[in-house]
Amino acid sequence: MKTIRLDINGIVQGVGFRPFIHKLVNDYDIKGWIKNTSSGVLMEIQGQDKSLINFIQDLKLKSPKLSVIENLKVKEIENTKIYQDFKIIKSSSDKEKFTLISPDACVCDDCLRELFDKNDRRYKYPFINCTNCGPRFTIIKDIPYDRDKTTMKEFKMCKKCTEEYGNINNRRYHAQPNCCFDCGPGIYFIDKEGNRIDKEPIKEAVNYIKEGKIVAIKGIGGFHLSCNALNGEAVNNLRKRKHRDEKPFALMGKNIEIIKKWCFINEYEEKILTSYRRPIVLLRKKDDKSFGYVSMDNRYLGFMLPYTPVHYLIFEEDIDVLVMTSANLSDFPIEYKNEEALERLSSIADGFLINNREIYVRCDDSVIREFNGREYPLRRSRGYVPYPIKINKNIGKILACGAEQKSSFALSRNNYIFLSQHIGDMKNIETFDFYMHQIKHFQNLFNIKPDKIACDFHPDYMSTEYAIKKSKEEGIPLCFVQHHHAHMASCMADNNLNKDVIGVIWDGTGYGIDNSIWGGEFLVGNYSGFKRLGTIRPIPLPGGDKAVKDIYRIGYAVLYETFKEIPEDFRFYEDYLAIEKMLCKKINTPYVSSIGRLFDAIASIINIRQKVTYEGQGAVMLENISEKTQEYYKFKINDLNDIFEFDWTYVVEQIVDDVRKNALPSIISSKFMNTLIHSCTDIVERIGKLTMIKDVVLSGGVFQNMYLLPEIKGQLKKIGFNVYCHSRVSTNDEGIALGQCLIAYHGGGVKCV
Ligand code: ZN
Ligand code: ZN
Ligand code: FE
Repeated sequence: MKTIRLDINGIVQGVGFRPFIHKLVNDYDIKGWIKNTSSGVLMEIQGQDKSLINFIQDLKLKSPKLSVIENLKVKEIENTKIYQDFKIIKSSSDKEKFTLISPDACVCDDCLRELFDKNDRRYKYPFINCTNCGPRFTIIKDIPYDRDKTTMKEFKMCKKCTEEYGNINNRRYHAQPNCCFDCGPGIYFIDKEGNRIDKEPIKEAVNYIKEGKIVAIKGIGGFHLSCNALNGEAVNNLRKRKHRDEKPFALMGKNIEIIKKWCFINEYEEKILTSYRRPIVLLRKKDDKSFGYVSMDNRYLGFMLPYTPVHYLIFEEDIDVLVMTSANLSDFPIEYKNEEALERLSSIADGFLINNREIYVRCDDSVIREFNGREYPLRRSRGYVPYPIKINKNIGKILACGAEQKSSFALSRNNYIFLSQHIGDMKNIETFDFYMHQIKHFQNLFNIKPDKIACDFHPDYMSTEYAIKKSKEEGIPLCFVQHHHAHMASCMADNNLNKDVIGVIWDGTGYGIDNSIWGGEFLVGNYSGFKRLGTIRPIPLPGGDKAVKDIYRIGYAVLYETFKEIPEDFRFYEDYLAIEKMLCKKINTPYVSSIGRLFDAIASIINIRQKVTYEGQGAVMLENISEKTQEYYKFKINDLNDIFEFDWTYVVEQIVDDVRKNALPSIISSKFMNTLIHSCTDIVERIGKLTMIKDVVLSGGVFQNMYLLPEIKGQLKKIGFNVYCHSRVSTNDEGIALGQCLIAYHGGGVKCV
């Protein structure tokens, strides 16, 4: 007989962990006790040596779906007393309240079985849930995680539900959102005329969808706008009403077989799709032409599987694929409150499938890509947040304010970093409000009062303004972090690296330390600082922000830089003379060293696109038309006072030649991207020789490009570098806050006040 102490950290509260243990100890004839602590659970258990070993193994293997064991410490202690039974004892109150909170989880198999069991008391109940599934983060107002502190507070559990809740052998033991027809929230439909329909609301919604209408459906973290994805007219209608010209819509497929009809799915993608997090997964279309009106020229479709009981009930009604796009007016955050949704979406939706379970915080669907068998997040939100990123260093309490586009923030607590959900582009006061509220909410949830703030070095970002104000008001030191340094640090932290690296940071735009705009950078350094050792020849942007939308201006600009004039056969618009003048006199023409803008220029020159509706569209289009080829353009690397500069003018010359020879845009696009790949390896190789550094991190929005990413990674590995990519946070600006935290901790900011 032996006695041991088990100290378990992670998500082990509110996820059915103690009942699971209760059952498991019986299997192994183990006695003792278990209790919740501030960071997990503590157990003292007694039993035969062998059964203790097997018990621990089982505990790790079979632990409840939503639980996460971060750390399990085993310590043998003396047999001072003999336990007669196993008890759950009262939690010890710790000095500091702090627990991890589970993200929202899709409805589990057990609940699904009941949902469709005619004899079950929750047959077709749209809010069925249990300890293993259901809403969490989006309904929690405060901790500890008790029903009282969630939006389920107003629903008093009925007798039967209370019994389930209190019975340790029941799978709804301590399931805070537990409810049923008798005591829980209800669902109803509101038609175009504003009539409330309580009888068979789901059938009503499905009828609307089948008729080609658009329905707003309330979900876990907000409303979706939905229509039949196989009805092109309905989808086009939605596009028009939403004023969304080209950005692809997300789809929800009835089951994995339905998705396989349209897309290729490998084993990893299937795993991500079916995980309880239920993100949108970008999948390669089987036929490039299918769902043209959903994803335009895109070769990928964003698919997810149903995740709420309501979704499953909808798909029961003979529907295969739904458009499920976040319900918001363009650039505004997702709608999540009934009243506001009814008002603001009235011009888009023909009807509303709505319920009276309040959503406390917004949380958009996550978007994930698979790369090398791992997740490659593009948007880390529902199902992931607020699960922390764990790093191998205690960095204390820091607030990192993120960037501006795809904004997010991070709050650290020792070696946990809590990244916010998707906030959106900070273009309006609503988004900014959402951002500020979430910072407050996270600070409260995780009991973090930061003693340092980090923000982007860009003086005009709203997040920077916020950081400056907060730092002043609360007397907290502030650290300004260079944008691409933050990208680099983010990828380092994502991979738990703490050494000198070469960072290839390619993105749209970020504020450089020389006060110009960067975006095609080769940095060397670590969390404490960096040096810029490589970049690309700066691109003039005639008209500044205007050129980011009217990308033909960037096309003109690179042509002008190359030929000192805009060649006659490339004057796509009448205003070429005016723009030539701007370029010649450098009027309102900032210079940016951005790969994103170089993509825009090439998209314009090969005339696949002259104006874009969202940032980065030029790059997306080039990726989509590309064909695999080995060819590339000759290029030149200038060596300017210790900075290697990729000079694209030679490439532009050759592209113009190719265009004049009527080469296919698909071939030019691939040759251009191959050139980027070769120039990248060339510059990294030179920097490697200079610095003897062998580790390379790849970060920045351009690395969402699945033509470039695998090739650059592969080529660099071939010449002996260790190459690291993102797998826990996004490679775009959403992931920046993580890097800001680490840099602020190490005092690596550009400026600190
Ligand atoms: Zn369940
Ligand atoms: Zn009930
Ligand atoms: Fe960026």
